[in-house]
Amino acid sequence: MRWTTLTVFVVLTILSSAAEAVTIIHAGRMIDGRNDQPRKEVSIVIENGRITRVAAGYIEAGPDDKLIRLTEHTVMPGLMDMHTHLQSQHSKDSYTERFFMEQADYALRSTVYARVTLLAGFTTVRDLGDNGVNSIALRKAIENGWVPGPRIFTSGKSLATTGGHADPTNALRGDFKRDAGPLEGVINGPDDARKAVRQRYKDGADLIKLTATGGVLSLAASGQNPQFTAEELQAIVSTAHDYNMIVAVHAHGAEGMKRAVLAGVDSIEHGTYMTDEIIELMKKNGTYWVPTNMAGEWVAEKSKEPGYFPEIVRPKAAAIGPQICDTFKKAHAAGVKIAFGTDTGVSPHGQNAHEFELMVAGGMPPMKAIQSATLVSAQLLKIEDRLGTIEEKKLADIVAVKGDPLTDISTMKNVVFVMKEGVVFKGP
Ligand SMILES: [Zn+2]
Repeated sequence: MRWTTLTVFVVLTILSSAAEAVTIIHAGRMIDGRNDQPRKEVSIVIENGRITRVAAGYIEAGPDDKLIRLTEHTVMPGLMDMHTHLQSQHSKDSYTERFFMEQADYALRSTVYARVTLLAGFTTVRDLGDNGVNSIALRKAIENGWVPGPRIFTSGKSLATTGGHADPTNALRGDFKRDAGPLEGVINGPDDARKAVRQRYKDGADLIKLTATGGVLSLAASGQNPQFTAEELQAIVSTAHDYNMIVAVHAHGAEGMKRAVLAGVDSIEHGTYMTDEIIELMKKNGTYWVPTNMAGEWVAEKSKEPGYFPEIVRPKAAAIGPQICDTFKKAHAAGVKIAFGTDTGVSPHGQNAHEFELMVAGGMPPMKAIQSATLVSAQLLKIEDRLGTIEEKKLADIVAVKGDPLTDISTMKNVVFVMKEGVVFKGP
């Protein structure tokens, strides 16, 4: 009797696994992230969150299978934004809200930003700088399924030098001012630099962000002066690479940017005053550039609104903003590796895809712009083995737009289908 029961059990198990339901997507047009030509009428089979088969034609679904028809759509890998700040969204109150908001307020508000980011088709983001805890907590909440959002790779708190862009005590009045140190991401000298990197590792950050030059939105005079020495940069890069963390570098001015590229950082963010010499160095070193055209456009626009920015910020926004888009044309034409990034959190969350329009306006073919937000970003993050393309064995991060983004890039702003690791968050 015991044997019979066991036999029945084994047979049932085999039968049930053989008939296991799969999800099949019928894609009218597919951009796979790797090939320069789209494919027409393709089926994508998904099992347990992974792509198990990509086949020509529309294959038939079994009675228990889930069929998703996207035959009038362009299907592509989940989009990736390499420069976001999910903790905040810039407004006139941004400079004062930290005196009134608790960590819990930030955390709850950032879940709203995470949700709109995912629903805009961005299934993976880098978060490049927060108060030190927010994006790490948000990453955990998303991984645990507590809230919907993109897969997050975060730097935690950005590293700055005293008075530099991302020193959290800039411009505070006397009794709020303090001598912030490596624990808060403020360093002076190579020893501090190493300690600050190790602190980020201990906090649970995935990568390192530093601000090698002044920045537009900080309450400080210069938007482009160098703010780290070569020794400090080298200490950060070598320590970060010891811990398998990549290094993303905010840079507007040429001198700070050049020092960072020479130190071997992985990506330059903004890159506003990139010179021909720096372009050549980046190509030689394989340094990625994350342009953030959108942030340039947004701050330039806001600088025209009287009273929007504090007077110390406004002239920087007016000068640096428009320059980014001009640099894009030059650096793209020269062949620098470009990963997609928006600096969203400066501009409103969920509008990330507007960057595609600015990249195409800057001379990049639509297919290359989409690849920069898929395969190239996955290469920068070193996750190309599991994400960035629609290929067998990859995680099933798949999005779709109606129509053809290769002829009308603005369709990228209207993502109608979002799947992350096989789970549908937005349906057709
Ligand atoms: Zn930023």
